[in-house]
Amino acid sequence: MDIHEYQAKSILAGYGVPVPRGGLAYSPEQAAYRARDIGGNRWVVKAQVHTGGRGKAGGVKLCNTEDEVLEAADEMFGKRLVTNQTGPDGKIVYRVYVEGGVAIEREIYLAFVLDRKAERIMVVASAAGGMEIEEIAEKEPDSIIRNIVEPAVGIRDFQAREIAFGLGIDAGQISQAVETIKGCYRAFRDLDATMVEINPLVLTSDGGMVALDAKMTFDDNALFRHPDISELRDKSQEDARESKAADRGLNYVGLDGEIGCIVNGAGLAMATMDMIELSGGKPANFLDIGGGATPERVAKAFRLVMADENVGVILVNIFAGINRCDWVAKGIVQALQNNPVGVPVIVRLAGTNVEEGRKILVESGLPVVRAATLGEAAERAVGAWQAGTQDTAKVVAE
Ligand code: ADP
Ligand code: MG
Repeated sequence: MDIHEYQAKSILAGYGVPVPRGGLAYSPEQAAYRARDIGGNRWVVKAQVHTGGRGKAGGVKLCNTEDEVLEAADEMFGKRLVTNQTGPDGKIVYRVYVEGGVAIEREIYLAFVLDRKAERIMVVASAAGGMEIEEIAEKEPDSIIRNIVEPAVGIRDFQAREIAFGLGIDAGQISQAVETIKGCYRAFRDLDATMVEINPLVLTSDGGMVALDAKMTFDDNALFRHPDISELRDKSQEDARESKAADRGLNYVGLDGEIGCIVNGAGLAMATMDMIELSGGKPANFLDIGGGATPERVAKAFRLVMADENVGVILVNIFAGINRCDWVAKGIVQALQNNPVGVPVIVRLAGTNVEEGRKILVESGLPVVRAATLGEAAERAVGAWQAGTQDTAKVVAE
């Protein structure tokens, strides 16, 4: 789960990371009020959307008067901000954050990520801050410092100092840098984050250090033990289809093709998508019903997959181990009887109770196309979609 910059800053500030004074606003008037409250004569208005690259997309505006703050905020509210990370649909701005303008001397990149290979938290830092890490990796690969934290002892002072020296930070600012690095690490570990990124961490012209941007991502599977973090979820920033599925305990991934996929397990989802592409089609989404799916869960899955208007065919591919094919078949029948989908449905069942499952489908009399193998299922799904786009004749039951 992602959170907003202002939320990440507030969390990190609690762990001793210095951040500028700022305030959240839900209207341009509130933004101007925040500016007055913060004081000074330079402010930055920042669109709060779950994406980086806002600066280049017009989502970060430097202002010199309260009127400019009002105007900048007015311009941002309701806007669909399209950055190099959002895709063409962008993200709508419902909140802006107003912050005191900081006199930047140097921009540094500092992040904490999970290194899956080392099975450790890794610090990634670079003196070439201000650009995205992908760009740093391309333009200044030698500037990147990678430092793995030993979990039994956590990050040590000497280790944080080593990173700070590597970034060319002056002796006078080392202790501040050490506090910042250690604070980020503790926040990461305490809150089950999967990423903490400060880009840029800036050295100011008066010898200070402050996090100008902050990004945090949390492990969804650990959210149950962080109710205060779960509350920070902003559904307006998520794919509506994915958050609806998550609310129902189902794992949904939205894509942009035409074939809706209901599968069990992420590996099978990948294989199913590959086979669809190989047969010349494109998946619209995939929904993982997981293990031990009840008929009710399968019926829910159908409703979610069909909520995507682009779906022209549904492909159900279940390899039942813990699951039972008869249950899945019952779910399919229940879903189709209650809510006919109006698109061809191709079903491939294998594994536990496959015969019972097949029987349930046949006896239901529903126009479901069965397939014995994954390859056949994918070919039939693509074939049905192609037939459907040429003329809307219904695919008849096998
Ligand atoms: P994004 O990464 O989404 O583009 P940032 O928060 O990093 O957004 O802002 C982009 C740039 O705007 C920063 O690299 C920094 O140069 C400038 N900036 C951001 N906040 C401030 C601030 N409070 N004072 C001065 N400049 C800022
Ligand atoms: Mg940034």
